[in-house]
Amino acid sequence: MLRVMSESMKAIRVERLGPPDVMELQDVPAPTPGPGEVRIEVEAVGINFADVLSVAGEYLTRTRVPYTPGMEFAGIVESLGEGVTGVQVGQRVAALGGSGALARYSVVNAAGLIPVPENLSGAQAAAFPVSYFTAYHGLKTLGRGVEGEWVLVQAAAGALGTASIQLARAMGMHVIALASTDEKLALARDLGADVTILQDDPDRVQKVRDAAGGKGVPLILEVVGGKRFQESLDMAAPQGRIIVIGNASREQANLRPVELMKRNLTVTGLWLTSLMNDRAVTMQAAQALAGLVGSGKVTPQVGPTYALADSARAFQDLLDRKTTGKVIIEPAR
Ligand code: NDP
Repeated sequence: MLRVMSESMKAIRVERLGPPDVMELQDVPAPTPGPGEVRIEVEAVGINFADVLSVAGEYLTRTRVPYTPGMEFAGIVESLGEGVTGVQVGQRVAALGGSGALARYSVVNAAGLIPVPENLSGAQAAAFPVSYFTAYHGLKTLGRGVEGEWVLVQAAAGALGTASIQLARAMGMHVIALASTDEKLALARDLGADVTILQDDPDRVQKVRDAAGGKGVPLILEVVGGKRFQESLDMAAPQGRIIVIGNASREQANLRPVELMKRNLTVTGLWLTSLMNDRAVTMQAAQALAGLVGSGKVTPQVGPTYALADSARAFQDLLDRKTTGKVIIEPAR
C-alpha cells in the first residue's frame, strides 16, 4: 500500500555539530516510504553513547549535517512502500542503523527490520538491538567466553553494561562489575553481578585481580579507554582477551604491543556496525538472543525516559553519567 503524504511532523534536527544543545525541535515534512521501505510510527528511541559522539562529530563515521539523529528505535509499522512483503501494517518492529529516528515517523528498509518478541514493550524493544547484539559479540562471538569463566564489565550500570551482565549470567559466566557510584553497583548486583567495585577505588586493579582468583580476569569488555585501557591490561589474566568496544573517556590510550607479548594477551576491536555485515555471525547472535529475550530470561533494562522536546537533556544526562540502563526518548509524548 503506497500512500502519498505531505503532512509535517516534529523531529530533532542538528544543523551544526557540537554538544547536545545544538539539537533543535523543528517541524519537517514527514518522510514517504520508497520501494522496499516501510514508514514506522516511532514509539521509543534508544539513545546510545554513539549518538552523543555522532552529534559532536566525534563518531567513527563522519556525521553529515543537517540531519536527524537516532539510530535505534521501535515502533508500529504505519505504511508500506512498493514491493514490501512479509511485514504487516500495525506490527511492532525494531530497527537499527543509520539515523532519523528522533522524529514522529521514520522510514527504513524493510529488509533491516528486527521482529519484536510479544513480551517486550516499545521501550524495551528500543533498548534491545545495539546493547544486546554488542554484548553478545563481546562475550561470545569475539570474546569466546565460556561457562564458569570470569568477565569484567565496565560502566556496568549503563545500557551496554546491564546487557552484558544479564547475558554473561545467562551464559553461566561470573561477572565483576565496575561503575562510578554505589547506586550503579547496586543495580549491577540486582542484575546478577557477583563482585562489584567502584570505578575510582584506589585498589581497583588488585581487587579485580583478586576477585577472579588472583591471576586476573580472562575476559574484559573495555569501554572506557584512555588511561583506563592500561588498567585493563593490568587486570587481565595471562592469555586474557580484552575486547575494545568503546572509548567513553574520549581520551587517547597508549598501547605498546610488546606488553601484550609478556602475558600473551589478545586485544580485539568490536564495532557492531561493521560486524552486522557478517550475516552468518548476525543470524547466530539473533537466534541466541531471541531465545533468551523471548523466554523472559533476559529483559532489556529501560532507563530514564524523555519527551522528544527534551532530547538535548537526555543526551546531556547520558554524557554526564547520570543515567542507568538505556536512555529512551518517546516522540509521541
Ligand atoms: P552507557 O549507558 O554505558 O553510558 C556511558 C557510561 O560510560 C556512563 O554511564 C559511565 O558509567 C561510563 N563512563 C566512563 N567514563 C566516562 C566518561 N569519562 N564520560 C562519560 N561516561 C563515562 O552508554 P552505552 O551503553 O551507549 O555505551 C557504553 C560504551 O560502549 C560507550 O563507550 C559506547 O561507545 C560503547 N559501545 C560500542 C559499541 C560498538 O559497536 N563498539 C556498541 C554499543 C556501545 P560510570 O559512571 O559507571 O563510569
